[in-house]
Amino acid sequence: MLPDPADIHRRYEATKERIEQACIKAGRSVDGVTLVAVSKTFPTDFIRVLYNLGHRHFGENKVQELAYKASFLRESGDCGDLHWHMIGHLQRNKAREVVLVADVFHALDSDRLAEELNRRAEAADRSLSCFVQVNISAETSKHGLGPDDVHAFITRTAKFERLTVVGLMAMARPVFNPEDVRPEFAKMKNLLDSYPAHDNPRADLKYLSMGMSHDFEVAIAEGATHIRIGSSIFGPRAGMVPAGDMIGPDRVA
Ligand SMILES: *Cc1c(COP(=O)(O)O)cnc(C)c1O
Repeated sequence: MLPDPADIHRRYEATKERIEQACIKAGRSVDGVTLVAVSKTFPTDFIRVLYNLGHRHFGENKVQELAYKASFLRESGDCGDLHWHMIGHLQRNKAREVVLVADVFHALDSDRLAEELNRRAEAADRSLSCFVQVNISAETSKHGLGPDDVHAFITRTAKFERLTVVGLMAMARPVFNPEDVRPEFAKMKNLLDSYPAHDNPRADLKYLSMGMSHDFEVAIAEGATHIRIGSSIFGPRAGMVPAGDMIGPDRVA
């Protein structure tokens, strides 16, 4: 069941209010937190509702869906200045598409993918800002680099002149109480801050993409700069496990 536009408007304002409160509590400026509205599975009409409220940052986890929505909206002429965040795992054969349609890629997690993205970006005369995905809760996530491998990986990306590593991204375990994943978020902040900058002067490590509908307040408290929020704004997606039913690492939304 899809919510109607008035619902989206109300949910969006309520979500922004929660973000503001979380920032106040953490003693942070709300300007330091970018809300990426995750529109996956929802129609472009829903994106337009947010666009008309002044929102510009949108995220998709499948490159085909992102490409379709971006070109549909661009061609309809009224939302040309969107910032598209590709937030999902990427196969190398889709690298070209990402380079063409995404402004930011949140899931860089291998040398081969970095090499292919760089090659495609060069061919298209584009450049791409990337977050390195970290597998911070090794038990559940299939994607992302192990925390111990992250620094060496960032150093190796120095040779890819079309890519700029701007930060780290993680998905925390789906838990009933978001407080349980606070240590994972804290570990991410620590990984970001402890990278020896001189090892890769081309990297510009300043952002942390972490926090989703269920846990963004804790993520903000631990330093998130980009929170990726879908269901809090757009409503539940088909087949989604409600947050209250997430009882442990073996239940995945
Ligand atoms: C779907 C998705 C989100 C948003 O999830 P919600 O729980 O709906 O807020 C965030 N990040 C990634 C990588 C996703 O795939």
